[in-house]
Amino acid sequence: MIPVFDKKLMKEVGELLSTPQKIVITTHFKPDGDAIGSLLGLSNYLVMKKHKVKPVVPNGYPEFISWMNGDDKILNFERKPKFVEKVFEEADIIICLDFNDPARVEGMKDLILNSKAKKILIDHHLQPMDFCDYKFSFPQASSTCELVYHFIDQLGDGKKINKYIAECIYTGILTDTGSFRFAGMTADTHRIVAALMDTGMNHVKIHELIYDTFTEERTRFLGFCIKDKMQIIHTYNTAYIALSKAEMDMYHNKSGDTEGIVNYPLNVKGIKMSAIFTEREDCIKISLRSKDDFSVRDFANKYFNGGGHKNASGGKSFLSLDETVEKFIAALEDYKDQLQA
Ligand code: 5GP
Ligand code: MN
Repeated sequence: MIPVFDKKLMKEVGELLSTPQKIVITTHFKPDGDAIGSLLGLSNYLVMKKHKVKPVVPNGYPEFISWMNGDDKILNFERKPKFVEKVFEEADIIICLDFNDPARVEGMKDLILNSKAKKILIDHHLQPMDFCDYKFSFPQASSTCELVYHFIDQLGDGKKINKYIAECIYTGILTDTGSFRFAGMTADTHRIVAALMDTGMNHVKIHELIYDTFTEERTRFLGFCIKDKMQIIHTYNTAYIALSKAEMDMYHNKSGDTEGIVNYPLNVKGIKMSAIFTEREDCIKISLRSKDDFSVRDFANKYFNGGGHKNASGGKSFLSLDETVEKFIAALEDYKDQLQA
């Protein structure tokens, strides 16, 4: 399905962007491949259109997604809060990418909500909140990057997507579809990927930059997680990995090092849901993944004050690590029928 954006909205946005504007583009806390890909894909396009563009992230992101064109221009709110505040104050337009709730930018929430700038949302999360003037929300889309492609295309500039923009958009589609395998991946998405490849971008290089950059220690940490920490509850076709701060310190874990580990237990035949619990300074961060129709979004929302997508969600717990795991296991009973089906 190709999302066709509302023509009237598109026309208004087109007019808004027809003269150079001061544009802040931002994305969610703990940015992932789709967040940075959409941020820089759109940013590179708008720079080409002569706008003054400031890409802003609420906090840092891992190295494997910090190579895209324009990466050096990204402002990190956590590092330069005062400067970022000023940038928001001066903005004519704010573009929000890959999140549906202003709370997802954490400390920058009020900078968006209190701004008089025109706000544009481009996102693929379910049930977007009403905080933008222009809302391009398509939960069926594989990724926000796919929507950014359509956004540029429906502004009439599909042909202006060069290899630098293509590399960014490709990254978001690649990472949000689990390398083109999740349900959100459609024939239309493949056609977009084909168009991106036609720009001359190097997909081999991108895959290496994203997937082949672990340190030896990070690779051994993955082994530890799977061999020593993965627990399987066969009755519920569920697996989980609970990591204390001390265990992560043992492998000198850096932010982002647990990324992706939650997917591995799903390699075990029959496993329908996988969870990873990581002990942070102020909370336990939970990541959930599932297969088929089991909605980890509902699960995260009901038990861990979180949300996300049907097959990839997350949340937080303010209990101890052990208590969080206990709560998780107890909750499985409520989903017995679905998990055992
Ligand atoms: P991850 O497991 O990669 O951190 O997050 C997977 C997805 O779950 C994200 O794309 C995001 O949509 C959602 N998510 C993660 N953490 C939270 C959270 O604390 N609250 C909400 N509402 N969604 C979250
Ligand atoms: Mn996304």
